[in-house]
Parts: sequence; structure tokens; C-alpha cells
Amino acid sequence: MATIASPVEINSEVADFLKRPRKMFIGGAWVEAASGKTFDTYNPATGEVLAKVCEGDHVDIDRAVKAARKAFEEGPWPDMVPAERARLLWKLAELIDEHKEELAELETLDNGKPLLFSRIVDVPTAAANFRYMSGWATKIEGSTIPISMPRAKYFAYTLREPIGVAGQIIPWNFPLIMASLKLGPALAAGCTVVLKPAEQTPLTALRLGELIQEAGFPDGVVNIVPGFGETAGAALAAHPDVDKVAFTGSTEVGRLIVTAAAGNLKKVSLELGGKSPNIVFADADLDCAIPGSANAIFFNQGQICAAGSRLFVHKSIFDKVVAGVAEASKKFQIGPGIDPATTLGPLVSQEQLERVCGYLDSGIKDGAKAAIGGRKIAGSGYFVEPTVLVDVRPEMKVVREEIFGPVVTAIPFSDPNEIVKSANDTHYGLASAVWTRDVSTAHKVAAKIRAGTVWVNCYNIFDAALPFGGYRQSGWGRECGREGIELYTETKAVCAQL
Ligand code: NAP
Ligand code: MG
Repeated sequence: MATIASPVEINSEVADFLKRPRKMFIGGAWVEAASGKTFDTYNPATGEVLAKVCEGDHVDIDRAVKAARKAFEEGPWPDMVPAERARLLWKLAELIDEHKEELAELETLDNGKPLLFSRIVDVPTAAANFRYMSGWATKIEGSTIPISMPRAKYFAYTLREPIGVAGQIIPWNFPLIMASLKLGPALAAGCTVVLKPAEQTPLTALRLGELIQEAGFPDGVVNIVPGFGETAGAALAAHPDVDKVAFTGSTEVGRLIVTAAAGNLKKVSLELGGKSPNIVFADADLDCAIPGSANAIFFNQGQICAAGSRLFVHKSIFDKVVAGVAEASKKFQIGPGIDPATTLGPLVSQEQLERVCGYLDSGIKDGAKAAIGGRKIAGSGYFVEPTVLVDVRPEMKVVREEIFGPVVTAIPFSDPNEIVKSANDTHYGLASAVWTRDVSTAHKVAAKIRAGTVWVNCYNIFDAALPFGGYRQSGWGRECGREGIELYTETKAVCAQL
């Protein structure tokens, strides 16, 4: 394995973890792929191979689904009282805390993101998600329902039961957080799971599997099969014995998931792409709105589904805001994520680098200008300059399509009553933000925006209790909060004649 050129000393547990090919977690055991194949995961800061990982395909998915089915129907899990599930989830959160530095380094090495953020965002958020869902395990309730049938007395009530075996497919942008967002509610509800992490970033999910084992979850309750989307992912989405598939990723693959799920009509929840509007009104507090708008697009190198990638600014302050966001972008310390001083890391992969650079070229070809940035950063690693594009038109690809990189299109507006139309002029509907000092403007606009989240005078505020998901082609269903739990339950109506 390549040695890691790093300005900080890598945790010895991380170094050990990277030495051996990582196996997959099926039925409580660490096993090789049935095919014997492995694939490489790369360090995006150098382009070098970081670790080898067993490559699961449909055979391994089938083994994992069988293990999950068995654990759902037999063994300690189906009889486990909710308080015990709660205790296991809480214990898992504690183990994440105990291993926080190790997990943060692993996440940064695999994904590229700054260690600073792996430490203060990714790892603590994953622990918080499990803690929050631990609380739900004991609070999943049905209701008693008064019914109106004549002539006889009935007692009717509902039960919320675990949906069964859940297949979960996650992307590479927040690997550990995504795993926690998927596993937490499924396990709280009493489901069993087969999780497929992204090929670019399988490592923290596999380390999490070891912690799941250490926490004491029964064998087969969680199975983790790394592999490729077209093989392992597709097999999981199509599997006839999977009751529900939960997917986060691109809208394009989301459509494939829906098609694959149609075979046995499994339940589907989708958290897909976005092209979120971030609207700065003339009366906004620019000391907040400018850094907030920079954070909205540049956080995680722009590789975030909620990214504020269409920045609408009232024309009276347009130049000032664009200059401010450009200035803020210069303050980033760009470098390998593993350097604790880094605040902007590389993109996740060569492929993502090419995608983002392709969008930059297309924008410039269509007549946009880069107020700042606009290019790949020379040298090894997948680094792109934080970029603000101006002189854009609504029909340009850079305005319409999700770039998933540190690239924002800035667009002036003049009529505050018309801005909602422009904001809603997209087939996505994931997130949005409004910056204004006028309470009335804030809530009027919030009501009109067709998106699952509206932030007012802030951006990228996520919470385990706050439902998150998309309108339109940004997805189906909401993760987090009560709705997040309900995605993993079936409602049963029981009606008794007395
Ligand atoms: P993606 O292809 O949608 O991948 C997401 C997950 O789906 C990965 O685990 C992937 O496996 C799996 N997958 C791929 N094809 C599949 C299939 N046919 N059946 C079942 N599962 C499948 O996303 P990506 O390629 O990583 O990124 C492409 C673009 O998607 C990005 O540029 C961005 O625009 C968008 N994206 C959005 C989000 C979001 O949170 N909304 C997250 C990531 C990416 P592999 O990793 O093995 O391919
Ligand atoms: Mg990697």
C-alpha cells in the first residue's frame, strides 16, 4: 500500500486498518467476496491507492439479504424490547465518540474532506444521529381510532411495525453521516439492514461495522457490502426479498432505483440532487449573508446535495455580495484534508474532478465569466478553485444542472415579488435560503419556495430532529425526525368487534 504523505502523524489504528484488504460484514462475520475480487479506494489528495476492499456483487448481496432476513425473523432481534434496541444504538454512539479521531482521519483520507470538518462535523453528527434515533426506539406508537361502523361496537387501533429487510445505498460526500442517517432509523424501528457504501468511500462504513459488532448488535442485523453501483447496488435495489430500499445519490441513479424496486414493489425512499436557490434581499445583514453564502456553496468542496448553487442577489447589492463571496473564497486554506490547517480539500475522485471541470468549461463556452476561480489547481490530487460564475442566463447548463463542486452561479434580481419564480425554475426542490431583515419577507418567501428546506439567515443547518428531503425530482420521503422513523415502519390497522 502507498505510504501516506501527511503533515500529521496518522493514528496507528488507522494505519493498521489500511494495511489489510478490508472484508465485508455479512451475518456477523467478516468475509471475502464470493468472487475473491477486491477494488482500490484512493486518497483524493494524492490520487494514490489508500486501501484494498473486497468487491461485493449480486452473490454477496444475496448472502447478505439472507442473513438480514434470518436476523429479522429469528434470533434475538425480533424479540428484543425497544429499550434494548435503544441501548445498543446509544452504545454505538458512544463507541463512535471513543474512536472519533480515528474515524475522522479515515474519513478524511478516503473522501478528501478537511480533517477539521471530519472532526467537528462528520464524526460528531454521525454519533448524534444514532443518539437521536436511540430515543425513538421506545417511542414508536400507533393510535386508537374511533370508527363509525353502525350497530356494533368496535375497538380499533394501529400498530407501527418494522418494515422488514432494508437495502440502503449511500453516496461518498458524507460517508459516515450517510451511514448513520440510514442505519439509525432502520435499527430504531426494528428493521435489519444491508448497507452498500459508495465505491469511492467504503472505509468508515466498514470501520462502523466493527463498532456495530462491538456494541453487541445480533449477527445479521447489519450487513455491509462494499462494491459497485452497477453490480452490488443494482442487485440490492432489485432483490425480491428486500422490503424497502433507501437511496441517497444522484437523481439519475434514483430513477434506476425506482425501476429496480418495481419488481417486488418494495418501498422506496430517495434523497437526490439539488440546485438550491440562495436568495439575498437588499435589506440583508451582509456581514452574515456573505460568509453564509460562501459556506452555502464551498462547504465540503460543494459536494453536498443541499449546496446553495444558485445565488440570487438583489441588484442594488449584487456587486458587493459577489465581491464578498469571492473574497471569502480566497481565505480558504486549500490543501490535503489531512493537514489540520486545511479548510478546502480536493474533490472525491478523478471522475468528479472531470465532471466539475466539464461544467466550468461549458459555463465559459456559454458566455459566463468567472468572478473568481474557474480552473483546476495544477499538481496531483483532485483540487478545483472555488468559483463564482457571473453573466449567466437561466438556460445555461451551469444554472440548470447539479455541478456538485465548489461552483456557484450568481444572478441579480430586481423585483422581490418575481424572485420566487426564478428560485422555483428548476426540476429540483431540495433546499433554499433567504437572507433578509424583514420577518414578513422571510416567511412569505419561505411559504412560496418549492423545496423541502428553507433556511432563513443561515445555511446548511441540519439536525437529526429536522425532516430533510426533496420536493419534485429531489426525492421521495423525509429523513430525520419522526418522518425519518416512519420510513422504516408499516402501519397495521387492527379492528376488533367487541
Ligand atoms: P451515484 O452514482 O448516484 O451514487 C450513489 C450511490 O448509488 C453509490 O453507492 C453508487 O455506487 C450507487 N449506485 C450507482 N449506480 C447504481 C445502480 N445502477 N443501482 C444501484 N446503486 C447504484 O452518485 P455518484 O456517481 O457518486 O455521483 C454522481 C453525481 O451524483 C454527483 O456529481 C452529484 O451530482 C450527484 N450526487 C448527489 C448526492 C446527493 O446527496 N444528493 C450524493 C452524491 C452524488 P458506486 O459508488 O459504486 O457507484
Ligand atoms: Mg477514497
